Parts: sequence; structure tokens; C-alpha cells
Amino acid sequence: MRREAATVAGLLDAATARIAAALGLAHRDARLDARVLAAHVLGVDAAWLIAHDTDPLNDAHVVVFDSLLAQRLEGMPIAYLVGAREFYGRSFLVSPDVLIPRPDTELLVERALAHIPPDQAMNVLDLGTGSGCIAITLALERPLARVTAVDRSTAALAIARRNADIHHARVEFLTSDWFAAFTPPSVLAKRRFGLIVSNPPYIVAADPHLARGDLRFEPLSALAAGHDGLADLRQLTAAACAHLEPGGALLLEHGYDQADAVLTLLREGGIPHPQSWADLSGILRVSGGELSE
Ligand code: GLN
Repeated sequence: MRREAATVAGLLDAATARIAAALGLAHRDARLDARVLAAHVLGVDAAWLIAHDTDPLNDAHVVVFDSLLAQRLEGMPIAYLVGAREFYGRSFLVSPDVLIPRPDTELLVERALAHIPPDQAMNVLDLGTGSGCIAITLALERPLARVTAVDRSTAALAIARRNADIHHARVEFLTSDWFAAFTPPSVLAKRRFGLIVSNPPYIVAADPHLARGDLRFEPLSALAAGHDGLADLRQLTAAACAHLEPGGALLLEHGYDQADAVLTLLREGGIPHPQSWADLSGILRVSGGELSE
């Protein structure tokens, strides 16, 4: 007996219900997941899906869709399933080797852009670059900046390099555990930066959120940072000033409740008047400041 051909609308309705039930998501979030997966499999955009909702689907598309849906039902993040995520208006490749870019981090980019002059060269360093989304965005928005990005994960750097190629961004990538590549006996030990940025791991290692939702599938090394979530922020603030030019700035993303602690760490590290900035939800999410001239 011949099965009735699935339509776009039928596929989306069934997938939405299953995603909502399996992951406990609201209907509209589950629907968005289903649309993103369908658009990816069919190679179309969201508008096409709406205009063609009674179109029949070919079996090959349905098979691919079902295999991605099965992984989504197990909790695999959509960004890893489709292999990409938007950040600051551009699409970046992602894999489970890198953190999925988050809208929160656009605040760090905005503060960084406010510090990098559009008409002058400046050495900029991004520590723990992951997908490269911060470094690449800065390089594209400030073509005169000389952007260097480091990560200790070679798998992450491979993704970041591909993203730079795709966007034709000029970024120097180096394998380095934080400042290791700029510490003697490295030949780069004398290099100084006008701006250092980082979105380091900052979640408390025992935080139950690490065992829920998308976070379960992301690299733990990019998320968790010791018993108080400050292990890496402590290391970065203690070391950064030695790598800044006079007047250079350090900007760090951190957790929703870490602003006070990070301001103290910045002062201890040699930034005399650090500040914090709030993201769109009013959460102090980025802190930093300048070294004295
Ligand atoms: N903002 C991320 C989250 O809470 C954490 C990213 C990070 O640790 N740098 O999901």
C-alpha cells in the first residue's frame, strides 16, 4: 500500500508536537526548532516553508529530517544539528567542539568596538576564541585592527579558521592556553595589545544547569570554571595587564551574579577604574577597563 506523501505542514506539525513533548519546550519554541530543521534539510528559508506548506515532500528529505529530529528529541542543540548559528548578523559554523555563540556575547563585541578606533591600527587579542565569532566580528567591523585569537583546543581552532575563511576575515589564530603563547620563552612575549577580550568559562562547576538543556552537549571546558566559576576570570585578570599597552583595555564577559567579584579582580590585576555593562535584559554581563597611560 502506498503511504500518503507527507506535506511540509504535516511534517512541521508532527515534529513540533514531538519536540515539545520530549524536551518540555513551549509550542512556539518547539515550532521554531522544527522550522529551522526543515529549512536546513530542504535548503530553503522560513518564508518558503510558509508559502509551500501543502507541498508534498520527497522521501529522501523525510529520511534526513527524521534522523535530525531523533537527535533533537535526545536534546542535541539545533545549532549543532544544522552546523551553524547567527552571531552579530553573520552565520558561523559550529560543532560540539565549540560553544554555541550566544546573543549575550554581542554586548562584549559592542564594548570592544567602542574601544577599537575605526581609523587606526590596534593589536587586539581574543582569548578562548572557540568558534571565532568574537575575533572574526571584530576583524570585519574594524578592518584596520590586527586581531589575534587563541584557543588551547586545536579542534576549536580548526572551526574558527574555517569561519574566518568563509567571512574573508583577517585573523591570526594561535594554539595557546590563555597567555602561554605570549609568555617567555615565546618569541611573541614582547607583543602588547591595545585591547584584550574574552568570553571565558564562568559557570560554577557544580551548577545543575550544566546537566540540562543545550549545555549538556557543549564543551564543558568552555563552560565550567571551578568551585565558584571564577577560576579562569581570576587567571585572566591576574595576567592581562602585563600584555596590555599603556592605556590598553581588558573586557571580560562573566556570569549574571559575578560583576562585583570581577570588578574586584580587575582592580587587583591593575585596572584602576573598572566598569560593568548590562545586556539587553539588564544583567551586568561584561566588565572591564583601561590600564593607566
Ligand atoms: N553564557 C553561557 C551560559 O550561561 C556561559 C558561557 C560561558 O561560560 N562563557 O550558558
